[in-house]
Amino acid sequence: MESVTKKIHMVDLFGQYEKIQSEIDAAVLGVIRSSAFINGPEVKSFKAELETYLGVKHVIPCANGTDALQIAMMALGLKQGDEVITASFTYAATAEVIALLGLTPVLVDVYPDTFDINIEAIEKAITPNTKAIVPVHLFGQCADMERLMQLAQKHNLFIIEDVAQAIGADYTRADGKKQKAGTIGHIGCTSFFPSKNLGCYGDGGAMYTNDDELAAKMQMIANHGQRIQYYHDSIGVNSRLDSIQAAILRIKLRHLDEYAAARNAAANYYDNALAGNPKIKTPARAKNTTHVFHQYTLQLQNVDRDALRKYLADKGIPSMVYYPVPLHMQKAYQSERYVSGAFPVTEKLCACVVSLPMHSELNEETLKYITDAVLEFVNQ
Ligand SMILES: *Cc1c(COP(=O)(O)O)cnc(C)c1O
Repeated sequence: MESVTKKIHMVDLFGQYEKIQSEIDAAVLGVIRSSAFINGPEVKSFKAELETYLGVKHVIPCANGTDALQIAMMALGLKQGDEVITASFTYAATAEVIALLGLTPVLVDVYPDTFDINIEAIEKAITPNTKAIVPVHLFGQCADMERLMQLAQKHNLFIIEDVAQAIGADYTRADGKKQKAGTIGHIGCTSFFPSKNLGCYGDGGAMYTNDDELAAKMQMIANHGQRIQYYHDSIGVNSRLDSIQAAILRIKLRHLDEYAAARNAAANYYDNALAGNPKIKTPARAKNTTHVFHQYTLQLQNVDRDALRKYLADKGIPSMVYYPVPLHMQKAYQSERYVSGAFPVTEKLCACVVSLPMHSELNEETLKYITDAVLEFVNQ
């Protein structure tokens, strides 16, 4: 590489760590010295601090984002055969837990510009068996939550927000009131996987809710179905956030808004450099929501995606395809419900999207190097 001396990463976890190294090292050592590894004071403090940050009544930490979705669905008392609607263009975890619990995943298409779940398509998919909708706030901005809540009210459905990619995003309601992503539906589920916007140094996740009863149920289910130790009221799971991860998350939570601002600055740089090129569609900003840019995802038009990715890779620039195969065309989730071509937007997106490096540590020199390379390839 000519001008960029540091290796370019999709996500620069080490670069981010270096800036808060002394705080993180002290926090991790503190947990080790206290030996309060499970449900220690760090977990309780993190829970309270995240509740304050989000403006939500209850945060229930758990072991990962997939568990969060599973525990949420268990707490809602959904039964075998109940239908849960979610997007066809998403990470598999969302549909996986639906199927795992014996519920029926009902997939619907997304909007071509924002990648968010298509609300008209949801409306058409609702049947008497529909019990819940899981909107995925894909790549860092909210689905249209106010419309979704109206739909849920009309049909008496639960909304579980999959906020694994959008922690910290603000949704603005028609009356001007702002709410954090994940705190609008009945339950919000997030992940602290290292590469997520608020990532720990291992696995972690959480459920959020403003409902006292649901909070108590989720707390119980996450802890082997016990409200009181050794008294098991329901069949639960074992899903805990460990104290070392909580200590790390407490420090990183203080920087979350700063990280989102850095991601937005990188996204703006990409937009300015790439928008207007007829072969590249830069990501659209949805109405009523801020964007925390978990991913910066382009749609390519008449560009050989594999060749572009190889061209970039040869210059030391990583890229990723989120996601290459629509859920309804995955071996595990095929169903007679869906024929090929069922979700044309999702199928088109899977064929044309490419995500560029996106994290809090990108500088202008690197961004220029990346965008110059993309333009060189598509304009050749
Ligand atoms: C990461 C992710 C999950 C799962 O989170 P884990 O902590 O890896 O289990 C679920 N849904 C979406 C949309 C995600 O991006």
